[in-house]
Amino acid sequence: MTTLDGIAVYGHFIGGRERASADGRTFEVRNPANGALVARVAEGGAAEIGLAIEAAGAAFADGRWSRLAVSERHRILSRFADAIEAALPELATLESTCVGRPLREMRAQLGRIPEFYRYFAAVARTAEDAVTPFEGPYLNYVRRVPLGVVGQLTPWNHPLLILTKKLAPALAAGNTVVVKPSEFTPLTTLVLAQIARDAGLPDGVFNVVTGFGAGAGAALCSDKRIRKLDLTGGTETGRVVAKLAGENLIRVTCELGGKAPVIVLPDADLDRAAAGATFAAFIASGQTCVAGTRVLVHESQADALVERMVRRARAIRIGDPLDLQTQLGPLVSQGQLERTERYVEIGKAEGAKVACGGRRPAGELAQGFFYEPTIFTGVLPSMRIAQDEIFGPVTCVLTYRDVDDAVRIANDVEFGLAASIWTGDAARGMKLAERLECGIIWINDHHRIDPALPWGGMKDSGIGREAGLEGYREYTTTKSVIVNLDEPVDWYATNAVVRLS
Ligand code: NAD
Repeated sequence: MTTLDGIAVYGHFIGGRERASADGRTFEVRNPANGALVARVAEGGAAEIGLAIEAAGAAFADGRWSRLAVSERHRILSRFADAIEAALPELATLESTCVGRPLREMRAQLGRIPEFYRYFAAVARTAEDAVTPFEGPYLNYVRRVPLGVVGQLTPWNHPLLILTKKLAPALAAGNTVVVKPSEFTPLTTLVLAQIARDAGLPDGVFNVVTGFGAGAGAALCSDKRIRKLDLTGGTETGRVVAKLAGENLIRVTCELGGKAPVIVLPDADLDRAAAGATFAAFIASGQTCVAGTRVLVHESQADALVERMVRRARAIRIGDPLDLQTQLGPLVSQGQLERTERYVEIGKAEGAKVACGGRRPAGELAQGFFYEPTIFTGVLPSMRIAQDEIFGPVTCVLTYRDVDDAVRIANDVEFGLAASIWTGDAARGMKLAERLECGIIWINDHHRIDPALPWGGMKDSGIGREAGLEGYREYTTTKSVIVNLDEPVDWYATNAVVRLS
């Protein structure tokens, strides 16, 4: 990083060092809370992606990482985790400045990141290969090996956490990586690459090319040297990336959009359910793929629940994300703010009622992309606000008649990422969980994560899983080695008795 006229200028991170774009182009990163210029960042395209893939390809081929003793990979990843821990205050402030998410949330989220590197280092260290049953005098051992150079495309809402869910298993398994972070929030990814290098990760193993989806992103997805693409982003981007992966016959993992239901069963404690539903909806200003954006409540309890939710939503402190008292920051961009405003107008036109919020706060906050926590009531399952991902601080309250009706409403969307169930009886919650079409279900909680949790959705919410043992396996492939323990058969010898087994 250098500075020009007092503004930080960041280059790509390729082959262990910072580099400008060949044509010198940069783009701006701004603070969504006040519009201030935070940094200029190199704008990469096919040329920089080509260099990064070359560096990653050379690093993979010479085995400096992929064939390093697993104990050594474990040691370097553990050192990387320790170094991230030491840098957490700096990373949290920078992430909060670019995303707009309150520092108190950012600290809590980033505090979990070192665990992912430690967990996947341990997974690699303890992974055991298999010996399969094999007819005859043969031994078939099955090795799990890394894929090669993998491409990772990340979004702006949780830049470091989402990258970590992909990067930790990819590195632990021995792959080399080219990351294209979101154009809105590339800074912490670049800082992370420096931290990794200083912790001993060999040059060329973790490369970052910054730029836009249509430029650097598309170039990464089209390159035939990539062995897997791993995207977290919008569903439409997922279709484009999966199509390109299909053309190159490579693996693809897509973590895409969601429209999570928060199902409040009649036996739930309504105060806890209201606290859970507001937490589910408004964390990160609703800009999370698992945001609880459809609260399903029994028709007899809707008024009581809404009254509790509105009270809580109105008490949320909106303000400067870097102030530790702030509970709700701005949206990430003008585009997200306009999208939220547009959907609130659509909701009203569809006949839903705004119980609270539904507008931007006035005064000083009008300089940033702030929007008040908004609760819609009188929402029908067919309304667009109940079907589409808004990605802002907006939740909809829908009523159900009985549990079958709740299941039908919960499943009646194109997405299938996450859900939460609120109940006084965990067994009842578990039975209901069996009937939901989604990949992640919390009972009496929401948003909780762990490195061991396989993360991903059903239907239009994506393909494959990140994190957990499944995420690790998705960054490996198998290699079967069949050893003949007997005399080799002479297939064409006269009078030979041969078997095909
Ligand atoms: P996005 O799809 O616009 O961008 C994601 C990444 O893909 C960015 O790096 C972007 O530059 C790149 N990209 C965009 N178009 C591309 C193209 N044509 N080719 C190659 N790369 C391209 O998403 P976003 O706006 O950054 O993030 C918000 C979306 O991410 C929401 O829909 C949200 O639900 C989803 N999301 C999903 C999860 C999950 O775990 N399922 C988590 C967080 C966010």
